[in-house]
Amino acid sequence: MNRQAVDAFASGLDSEVRQAIEAGTARVIENRSHTLAEDYSDLDGLRQLAGQVRQHALDHLDRYLPQAERRLRDNGVQVHYAPSADRALEIITGLVRASGTRVVTKSKSMASEELDLARRLADIGVEALETDLGEFVIQLDDDHPSHIVAPIIHKTRRNVADSFAKHGLGDFDDDPEVITRRARRFMRDKFLAAGVTITGANFISAESGRVAIVTNEGNARFGLAGADIHIALAGIEKVIARDRDLPLLLSLLVRSATGQRISSYVELVSGPRSASQPSGPREMHVVFLDSNRSRIVGGQTREILRCIRCGACMNTCPVYRQSSGHAYRGVYPGPVGTVLGPLLKGEDGFGELADLARASTLCGACGDVCPVNIPLPDLIARVRARSHREGTVSGDAGIPSMGGYSLIARHPGLWRLAMRFGRVLNWLPLRQLPLGVSRAWFTSRTLPRWRGGYFRRWLRSRKEGQDA
Ligand code: SF4
Repeated sequence: MNRQAVDAFASGLDSEVRQAIEAGTARVIENRSHTLAEDYSDLDGLRQLAGQVRQHALDHLDRYLPQAERRLRDNGVQVHYAPSADRALEIITGLVRASGTRVVTKSKSMASEELDLARRLADIGVEALETDLGEFVIQLDDDHPSHIVAPIIHKTRRNVADSFAKHGLGDFDDDPEVITRRARRFMRDKFLAAGVTITGANFISAESGRVAIVTNEGNARFGLAGADIHIALAGIEKVIARDRDLPLLLSLLVRSATGQRISSYVELVSGPRSASQPSGPREMHVVFLDSNRSRIVGGQTREILRCIRCGACMNTCPVYRQSSGHAYRGVYPGPVGTVLGPLLKGEDGFGELADLARASTLCGACGDVCPVNIPLPDLIARVRARSHREGTVSGDAGIPSMGGYSLIARHPGLWRLAMRFGRVLNWLPLRQLPLGVSRAWFTSRTLPRWRGGYFRRWLRSRKEGQDA
């Protein structure tokens, strides 16, 4: 158990990193709000509809998943099921080995992060090049993404330029255009040399077997154009019922993720290249990753599988914005990771990340922005309750404090007294006092200075002013 690890991580965060995250998330929140408000008069109605569309597919996954498999096979795609991340790795490394290639191009995919795929391919002597610019920088720095849409949100332009210079991609220059041009030049030869390209899948239609892949940089398309074999790795929850669900989901995904109206590239891949097509992979594989998802789909927190990976919940989350994605110790940070992280670990691993739910303020902001209407605060509370029930997070330090608050709040006389003397808290060495389990709470948190106690006085004086 790692109690209040998010708080501890946040308190040690470099101020430059904190500023980078603040600026990056604030920019996207603003763009998202403008675009959605301008384009949709009934955004909440649309979010509800999108939530129903996703939940319908999940509630009938036993029908839609086999249907998607049949359509994919009809389209000439080879379909594999991986019950675990280890099995998915076995399948993918097996396919790459059999192809004989030494270079693989890779698009950004959270499922592949679950497998730590690029590093595992490197272990077998295959260069797996991340072709999303952010992921490329992460790979250069041997770092981990800190956001599901903007993996290098914790880095500044200067950090990126430093890393390019360090890895021989040119002298220090933090002009974004120069950085992009250098990355493009470096990647171009790799795209041409790669025998296999690996992508994720934003959605897979059970109706047609089409695989939708969204990128902003065209890197997935370039990968598909250059490689002989395409492997799409997708969680089983990525299946949707119908093609006509796509416009709704894509519209909300892109606006929620970046505030754009349309992503620069949306690939709808229907299978390997046909005899009449001049280019494209001659072989295509879809690997469906379960990894505890089929357990989640029938459980108390099943709504989390609706997630379309837009990142809006983390952009808006005050805890994420203060602590960064790395504080969450898993592939999925922020509110979605607080729920999905421990659940994806399975029954035995749940406790490893269950403490994340205690770091949430339950302010509700994440639930308000989620484009597929996932009741995130409720789910976080359910994870909290489960971890408490199962004893995976022990010593619930918050409860005694809340008990004290509850006592004061229920007795007006005590409340008045507490308001009058509350400022004493500013002088007490709370971290040194023998407060039992509550001490841990104060040790890992910094209380703001007490500034309260004036409301009643203000109200009385206002009333007296009106009476006079
Ligand atoms: S939980 Fe909702 S807001 Fe968060 S990433 Fe998923 S879809 Fe986006």
